[in-house]
Order: sequence, then C-alpha cells, then structure tokens
Amino acid sequence: MQTIDNFNFENKKALIRVDFNVPLDDNYKVTDNTRIVAAKPTIIKILEDGGSCVLMSHLGRPKGVQEEFSLRHIVNAVEDVLGVEVLFSGNCIGSEAEQMAENLKPGQILLLENLRFHEEEKQGDEAFSEKLSRLGDIYVNDAFGTAHRAHASTTVVAKFFDSNKCFGYLLAKEIESIKKVMESGEKPVTAILGGAKVSSKITIIDNILDAIDHLIIGGGMAYTFIKAQGGSIGNSLVEDDKQQLALDILEQAKAKNVQVHLPVDVIIADAFSNDAHTDTSDINAIPDGWMGLDVGPNSEGLFAQVISDSKTILWNGPLGVFEMDNFAKGTIALGYAIANATEDGAFSLVGGGDSVAAVKQFGFQDKVSYVSTGGGAMLESLEGKTLPGIAAILE
Ligand code: AMP
Repeated sequence: MQTIDNFNFENKKALIRVDFNVPLDDNYKVTDNTRIVAAKPTIIKILEDGGSCVLMSHLGRPKGVQEEFSLRHIVNAVEDVLGVEVLFSGNCIGSEAEQMAENLKPGQILLLENLRFHEEEKQGDEAFSEKLSRLGDIYVNDAFGTAHRAHASTTVVAKFFDSNKCFGYLLAKEIESIKKVMESGEKPVTAILGGAKVSSKITIIDNILDAIDHLIIGGGMAYTFIKAQGGSIGNSLVEDDKQQLALDILEQAKAKNVQVHLPVDVIIADAFSNDAHTDTSDINAIPDGWMGLDVGPNSEGLFAQVISDSKTILWNGPLGVFEMDNFAKGTIALGYAIANATEDGAFSLVGGGDSVAAVKQFGFQDKVSYVSTGGGAMLESLEGKTLPGIAAILE
C-alpha cells in the first residue's frame, strides 16, 4: 500500500483530496474543525519534506456556483489549524488555478474552490479530472468520507498520475483499522451491531460472520430476532418480513461458530418519548402497549463480560434510543465496556453513523482505538465492498 511515507515531496507539488466538508454557522464561521485537524499530519509531512500542497475538497451540496458553499469561508480556519498561510483559487480548474499552482513554492499551500461547483465532479468526468491533474505532481487521497464515491477528485483523477499516487495518513489509518478487524484481528473478535433495522445491517452481518467470534445484537433490530424465535415484543420496532432472515442469520452464525448475544432484559416504555412511563422487562415477555427502547441492566452486564474477554472489537449502531436521556444508559454502558477493554489492550474500532455520534456525545472518542471519519464509506467497507477511491490508488 503506497502511502505518503513512500514519497519524498522535495520540490514536488502534492494534489491532495481532503475532506474539508465542515459545518459553518450563519456567519460562515467553522463550528467544528475536526476534519481540518484530521488532515494536518499529511499536509505537514509534505511541507516538511520541502514540497507544496494543493488542497481540493467539496463543501455541502451546492447546485452550481453558490457563494454560501464557497471554500473561501474556511481559509482562516485552515490557516489557524496549520499555522501556515493559505492561498486561495476562486476556481478549482482553469487558468487561475493552474497559474497559482505553477507559482507555488515549497512550503506553500493553495486551497481550491469547491469541487462541486462543477457538476463534472460528481459525474466523474474525465476531461474535468484531467484538468485537476494538471495542478500537482503527486496525487494524494486523504478523504475517507468520500472514498466510496467514484467522483473526479476521489477516483478518476488518479489515472493521470501513473504510479505517482498514494494514500494520506488519515485514509491509510482507516484502511488499516478495517483490516485489523476484518482480516488480522487478534481473537476473540467481537462485533456489536445496533441501530434501528435488520434490513440496513444485513449485508454487514453477512460479510463479517467469517471474521468474528461473537456477535452482540442490540437496538431496534434485536426485536425482529426475538419475535422470530417466538418471544412477545409488545409494540417494539419490528420488521415482520425479516423474521425468516433473522432465523437464517442465527443458523449461519451457528454453522460458523459465531456466538450470538441478544439482550435478555430491556427498558420498556409506554410511548416513544423521553417522558413516557418506563419499566424493566424480560425481552421475551414485553406487555402489549409497551416497547423496548434500551437494553436492561442484565444485558449490560452480559455484553460487558463478552467485551472484556475480546481482543478485537467493532462497534456499529447504538443499543437503544440514545438520543433520549432515559434510553441512553445501555449505549453508555457499552461505551464504558469498550473503553475498559481498550485500556486492557484490545483494539476497538467504532464506525458508521450513529455509533460515532454516540461515542462523541458521551466522550469516548479518546478511549477507543479508532473512530472512523466516514459514515457511508465505513458501512460499505464493512459490507465487503471495494471503495472506488481506494481501488484507484491501488491500481
Ligand atoms: P441506524 O442508523 O440503523 O444505526 O439506527 C440508529 C437509530 O436507531 C438511532 O436513532 C436510535 O434511536 C434507533 N434505535 C436504537 N434502538 C432502538 C429501539 N429499541 N427502538 C427504536 N429505535 C431504536
């Protein structure tokens, strides 16, 4: 795998696809610079080699050129993070960009205007990609969040660089983390899948069963499994047409020697509301009119035991409706269990959508081994798909 460590950037211009799709407030100030901070090690390594950086990114979902989505708004925030002056080109292709890139000296940084001001970006247009490729000697992809898109700047541009293309540190770390779980994870390997629906996680389950020893199932998707096995789930979330699928998964897991752990008790509520009346119930005997919205204390203990015995942990999806305080406890307890196991030497990867939000909300991001920066890209990786942005570098 070619990373920026395989190159010396002295007197070279790096054309870097970063993910600077950052949130802005009404005054166009950056409210969360995490993604800029995440790209810093790659940029600094290139500058310290004696090279220069041409940074390209999208911001939001503009329809044509829309000033509110201009990357000009973030120039100061990028300068603050990098501690280096940042030049700006008002178009990502064309004479202005080419001239500014041409004049760039070692140690300098040029930020290009929003790639998505051109519809050719999302179309993966060849001619547009070729124009981008004129702006650098070496192509670096450091944007995991868009690696599952075959866009011009994430994928197609790579073909114009022969072997002068590589992964930045951030993207390399994402790839390594997924590999650690899916291919080379120290056993026992445990995956925790939560979230709302079986249907949205089925491809992931299919793909990971060969790699894991334990599968913990929580969240709304647990009830389809419980009902399929004959339990009473009251008004809990269920996908009736996925009951057979749930039984098939359990059968498949058994054949592959994967131990499946479902909740044994749950916190039930008489409405989908933080103000609802609550109680604790056996998961197989939820009364009519009540729904399970979080795992109960016995399940927390059971899951914590499995996790403390694990050496490799993958977490995707919350165990309950963590957005409501009264149903966040199971997800928080899971976060503590994973943090403790990590402290004891396990490798833990948190990836995909809501579990990342939960980890951040409850302050676990520094207590797990790695929190993925890409929602959709992480889910597709766990589904076993080859991401076009990654394939383009490896080709
Ligand atoms: P997903 O995007 O599939 O990972 O699902 C995340 C969502 O699942 C979150 O918004 C949770 O509130 C929701 N969720 C988790 N547990 C339950 C549950 N027991 N009932 C309904 N929704 C749930």
